[in-house]
Parts: sequence; C-alpha cells; structure tokens
Amino acid sequence: MLVLKFGGTSLANAERVRNAHQIVKQRGGKNPVVVCSAVSGITNKLIALSSEGSVEEIIPIHDKIISELGLPVGLLLPLYQELRAAVERLRKEQSKESLDVVQSFGERFSVRIMEAYFKSQGEQAKAYDAFDVGMLTDDRFGAANPLKEHADQIKKHLNRLDHIAIVTGYIGKTKDGRVTTLSRGGSDFTASLIGAALDAEEIQIWTDVNGMLSTDPKVVPSAKTIDSISFQEAAELATFGAKVMHPKSIQPALDTIQAIQEPSSSRKAGKKAGSRASPRERA
Ligand code: ADP
Ligand code: ASP
Ligand code: MG
Repeated sequence: MLVLKFGGTSLANAERVRNAHQIVKQRGGKNPVVVCSAVSGITNKLIALSSEGSVEEIIPIHDKIISELGLPVGLLLPLYQELRAAVERLRKEQSKESLDVVQSFGERFSVRIMEAYFKSQGEQAKAYDAFDVGMLTDDRFGAANPLKEHADQIKKHLNRLDHIAIVTGYIGKTKDGRVTTLSRGGSDFTASLIGAALDAEEIQIWTDVNGMLSTDPKVVPSAKTIDSISFQEAAELATFGAKVMHPKSIQPALDTIQAIQEPSSSRKAGKKAGSRASPRERA
C-alpha cells in the first residue's frame, strides 16, 4: 500500500486536481491513502482572518475549482457555514485553539473536492478528516505532536480499505476532541505518520519541484536535483529550512525502515524500502 501526499500548489486549480487524480491512478497502486494540504495560499488567508480579510474571499477560490471540475456547486456550503462561525469565535477569543479550528478548514475543503472529483471519474474514494481516523495529538495548538496511540488508531481506521482514502494533512485532535494543527507545512508529517502506521511500502511526496534539490530553486535557479539522499541528509536539509519537506516528516519513515531491518521487531520484514529516500517528483 502506498501513501501519496499532494501539497497546496498541486491542488491549486482544476487542472492541478485533474493532474493529481492522474498521478494517483498511474502511480498509486491499489487503494492508496492520499493526503492533501489546503489549496495553495489558503492557510495563510485563514490565519489572517483572526484580524483581517473575510471568509467571503476564501469561498470563491474553492467554488471556482468546484465549478471548473463540473462538481455540484453546493459541495462545501455546510463547511462554509461552519467556518463563518469558527471565525466569529476566533475574533472574539483570539486563542491558538480557535485559530487551529479555523485553519483546519483549508484541508477539510480540499479533501472533499478531491473526493467529489475522484468519484466523478468513477473511482471508489472517500474523504476523511484526519482527526476522525486516529490522528490524536497533544494540545500544543499550532505545533501539536502525535500521541503514541495515534499509530494503532490510524491502523484501526485506515488499514486495508476497499477504496481510496483521501485524508486531510496538517490537522489532528486532542483526546478530548479539540482540533489541533501540526505546524506549518505539516501535511508532509501527516503523510509520514500515516505511512508508518500502515506499514506503507512508500510515502510519495508530490509537489511543485522535481525532488530535493541542492538548495531552494526559487532562490538559486541553477540548483540541482539530488538523485538520492540519505534520511540523515534529508533531515538536515529540512531542519535547516528546505521547505520542500517538513523536518518532522523524516523520522516516522526512518523508524519504519529501522524496524524492518531489525528482525526482533514486530514489523514484517521484506518490505520494499531502502535506507535512502527517493527524490520527490513534480505534480
Ligand atoms: P507543498 O505545498 O507541495 O508542500 P512547499 O512549498 O511546502 O510545497 O515546498 C516546495 C518548495 O520548497 C519548492 O517550491 C521550493 O521552492 C522549496 N525548497 C526549499 N528548499 C528546497 C530544496 N532544497 N529542494 C527543493 N525544494 C526546496
Ligand atoms: N496547509 C498547511 C500549511 O500551509 C500544511 C501544509 O501545506 O503542509 O502550512
Ligand atoms: Mg509543504
């Protein structure tokens, strides 16, 4: 089983969503888990809502994608209503907790668009909010960490499904049901946690550049794609600011591989995985 993660630019408009669907069809194998970020720029806009801007600027961005994909116009109406209420609460409370609730809508919108589009293309697919499928975290709002129970819980909900699961990146819930976020760029971390929990053969991170490069190509256009990179080197690049991969996303994948290499572990051996990460590919 594979996990494929699509970042914001890979879901930024109708054409990108169609492209993501093609990638899942061609590269996802049978019933993969697809992890989605919010549409590009939306998380920033949601954060800004604590003091400025309006939900009414965020709605048309999604409705345009929905209409260009030929999906029902009212697809996200109930969630828009929920978001309006969450923003009202945020403006009153100005708390990290209410900000996480507001932020969670970015990913909750995008998985529902993906589900509807995948279904319109004849796929068996279902959208899930990560907090409904076991992504339990502590209560560090804005930078939450998974609780140790998360892996068993995710396995319970997402193992061996008979359809494509499309899951929100970035968000979780505390044990007592409060919404959290995993820190900016955290959808990579979600993909990695789900991949490790499900013993996935691969975690594929699809984004807007062809792999991990020697440096940020937006800053240094001559940056070169790295053919293969050790987990250690990838973690270092990520920790020192290579936005291409969230720094916390390396460890869960590495833990899985180390468990495979140690026969005393309870995990099954013989999984197709190496000690070097594959390069990322452009979506
Ligand atoms: P996504 O929305 O898919 O998660 P991000 O914007 O978070 O994508 O990460 C991809 C971006 O990371 C690239 O567009 C690139 O500008 C930037 N980046 C920074 N450092 C690197 C690096 N060493 N290799 C590749 N991309 C990098
Ligand atoms: N949407 C979140 C962010 O912009 C998470 C992510 O994109 O990985 O930070
Ligand atoms: Mg990112």
